Amino acid sequence: MPFKEKKKIKYATFALLFALFGIVAPKYAAADNDGSAIKTVVIDPGHGGHDPGTNWGNGKYKEKDIVLSVSLKLGQLIKEKYPDIKVLYTRTTDKYVELSERSDFANRNRADLFISVHVNSTGTSSVTGTETFVMGTHKSESNFELCKAENSVIVLEDDYQSKYEGFDPNSPESYIIFSLLQNVHLEQSLRFAELVQQKYKSGPIYANRGVKQGGLIVLWKSTMPAVLTEIGFLSNAKDRSILVSREGQNKIAGNIFKAFCEYKTEIEQIHGKTEGIEKLRPDEEYYAIQILSVAKPLGPDAGDLKGLTDYDCIKTANAYKYITGRYNSRNEAQRNLSAVRKIFKGAFVVKITNGKIGI
Ligand SMILES: [Zn+2]
Repeated sequence: MPFKEKKKIKYATFALLFALFGIVAPKYAAADNDGSAIKTVVIDPGHGGHDPGTNWGNGKYKEKDIVLSVSLKLGQLIKEKYPDIKVLYTRTTDKYVELSERSDFANRNRADLFISVHVNSTGTSSVTGTETFVMGTHKSESNFELCKAENSVIVLEDDYQSKYEGFDPNSPESYIIFSLLQNVHLEQSLRFAELVQQKYKSGPIYANRGVKQGGLIVLWKSTMPAVLTEIGFLSNAKDRSILVSREGQNKIAGNIFKAFCEYKTEIEQIHGKTEGIEKLRPDEEYYAIQILSVAKPLGPDAGDLKGLTDYDCIKTANAYKYITGRYNSRNEAQRNLSAVRKIFKGAFVVKITNGKIGI
């Protein structure tokens, strides 16, 4: 997809921007939803209006049309099976919606899941398959190329420099911003992405390019589990014939729908288990992970908690210690530590005995 040539930001300017980003970049805050059930899902058909996305045959087939059709079908399947779930779309017609508005829309509606649907394209016509992205730092050059292409549309938006806080989709340095953000919904986003890729295995597009992480603006500010799925390559003849056929589109939507059903069940089961846990008995002994130690107790919306809701606070002589998890053995706690450290860097395992905290 072509994008305007832009002057490269000089390093010094960038260093300043980088410093500013640290202050103004929105944190991945807790969603207003409690994540215990899927009540609202936002489906985001990529592109639209003056932004066709990728295209083939001089505009004969356009990404924006394919993804709208797949998205509407997906929503319809969800509504049919779960009439109580609110299914919302960022667009239902061929209109352009700014990238920031897509995630804002999901946030405003307190969505429990955000699914952005896209079609891939590359210069090599033999490349085929599906891949699903979650917000993160891209580790490979090919992920960067995809993110650049999907993000590039912001340069067509008015005043995009201030709207996206100086972000330049073509500058690799700009993407450092994403490594500063902590995605509290990473685990759930990854889980949903995995399920989507798993369901794609039944075809009609069989090549599985897996779950990936990348700096995608449309996922950047969403405050719920969010994925961007690339349903196939318009540049590949076989993928293309599937992507543009009604039957192919229905099957792809059906796969995402199956992933949705499984994800919904999993989320609700996990919550059901948590609810069933009895309150701590005073004579109990278990292991947990300490995430914070502060002088004054934190409010539930405190930024330091990074959106975590599943925690306990233990008051000691000189501090309030925040812990998460509940494990029968130190080993079990240790196994979960690396995941927690992704969000709370200084986290470590503690032993709780009779409500008191120890190492
Ligand atoms: Zn796209």
